[in-house]
Amino acid sequence: TNLVTVLFHLGEMATITQSLDEDTFQVLGEELGYKVQIVSPEDEDRELLESFDIDLEAEEEAEDAEDKQPRPPVVTVMGHVDHGKTKLLDAIRSANVASKEAGGITQHIGAYQVAVEHDDEERRITFLDTPGHEAFTAMRARGAKATDVAILVVAADDGVMPQTIEALNHAQAADVPIVVAVNKVDKDGANPAKVMQQLTEYNLVSEEYGGDTMFVPISALKGTGIEDLLEAVLLTTDAALDLKANPDKSARGIAIEAKLDKGRGAVASVLIESGTLRQGDAIVCGTAFGRVRAMFDENGEQLDEAGPSRPVQVLGLSSVPRAGDTFLSTDDDRTARQIAEKRDAIERNAAQARGRKRISLEDFAKALEEGKVDMLNLILKGDVSGAVEALEDSLLKIDVGDEVDLRIIHRGVGAITENDINLATVDNAIVIGFNVRPEAKARDAAEREGVDVRYYSVIYDAIDDIENSLKGMLKPTF
Ligand code: GDP
Repeated sequence: TNLVTVLFHLGEMATITQSLDEDTFQVLGEELGYKVQIVSPEDEDRELLESFDIDLEAEEEAEDAEDKQPRPPVVTVMGHVDHGKTKLLDAIRSANVASKEAGGITQHIGAYQVAVEHDDEERRITFLDTPGHEAFTAMRARGAKATDVAILVVAADDGVMPQTIEALNHAQAADVPIVVAVNKVDKDGANPAKVMQQLTEYNLVSEEYGGDTMFVPISALKGTGIEDLLEAVLLTTDAALDLKANPDKSARGIAIEAKLDKGRGAVASVLIESGTLRQGDAIVCGTAFGRVRAMFDENGEQLDEAGPSRPVQVLGLSSVPRAGDTFLSTDDDRTARQIAEKRDAIERNAAQARGRKRISLEDFAKALEEGKVDMLNLILKGDVSGAVEALEDSLLKIDVGDEVDLRIIHRGVGAITENDINLATVDNAIVIGFNVRPEAKARDAAEREGVDVRYYSVIYDAIDDIENSLKGMLKPTF
């Protein structure tokens, strides 16, 4: 028999070229006497590496705590447009060049490191110098976590704005501690106290108000408060995180940006997460492979080696990797090449099998009934802030009992953006649009990623649907 017939008997109308969702594959497999196992891309890659005797998790576990040494925090600067992210990154960099001896010209390699005197000790901090949360979210959507701490820049004359909220939502969803830089305090009309007060609403409560978020007044333009800000980053790091990595092993890390250079070929900036990368090492980064022909730091200085939290520009890859691609050095060239080639083949297959299914409200109701989930993540977008607030209030008032948690991970005014979909993808959330439509890019992304986006124009309809699904009784809509 052919598959279409089998599917038809299962109540599924399909043509031979149509792609099916995971559930259907499961049922189809069972019908044909196979057990269908659906592997995530991460699992698949882990298995691939294991077939080359590389087991990153086992490696991590087997490591002695003594082998690990403190590593610098990696920091991303986020905030609303024009609040001074770029200026701040420039100010930090020019106030504090890590290698003072370097006579080199500063290079943009996607990140830089600064040295700070802290408790009579020289400490370092790595800054990703592509501001904004788009890069951050894109990397997260690819499973990479490149940031330890976020600096949220808020202009004191403007206060909390939509992208401020978006940025802090992203950081909070990723469990990244936040330091608030209250910028432009040099300006007339600057009101740092207001920023502090506004942010308490988002669980960013300053120490003065009894919270544990550090707020630092700065002027990126005048270069004031920068030292205090760096100090606050270190204090927050030490309070919230225990950042350690073993420098004495082969290098592991992540690509932060890459490009094709006419003269030098593929140029990739990578952030070393653990181990040490040396010139001449065989490496594989995503589907690119090669040998480290040369390495440079942010001052254009050539390096022989680079340890944890160090950003370096690497020459010698066969092709241009993507931001967020993981990299590792391998024992030999052949292994690197084979891993890259296998990944390439896997990606091609995956590209054909698009339409990965994320959770929908119906799935959620079903899974809830079977006791498989206990958390519903929602993203709310509406045309006016009053409506969004009303919706949020009513949703939070739904009596969901003890078994299930309703979390609103992001809310905002305006069209549904690609960023909303990215966030929904990462946190398996459902997007609720109230009197708004998606941007074209967002619609494409939602379709590609299988994110459930629901539109309402009556608040009660939205509440009803969510309430019903929380009670496990939402009827599928077709
Ligand atoms: P971004 O969009 O967040 O990267 O913001 P920019 O760094 O490009 O800054 C936006 C504008 O605000 C620029 O015209 C900056 O010169 C100005 N700006 C940034 N920081 C300060 C500051 O501390 N004080 C004042 N007065 N202006 C600032």
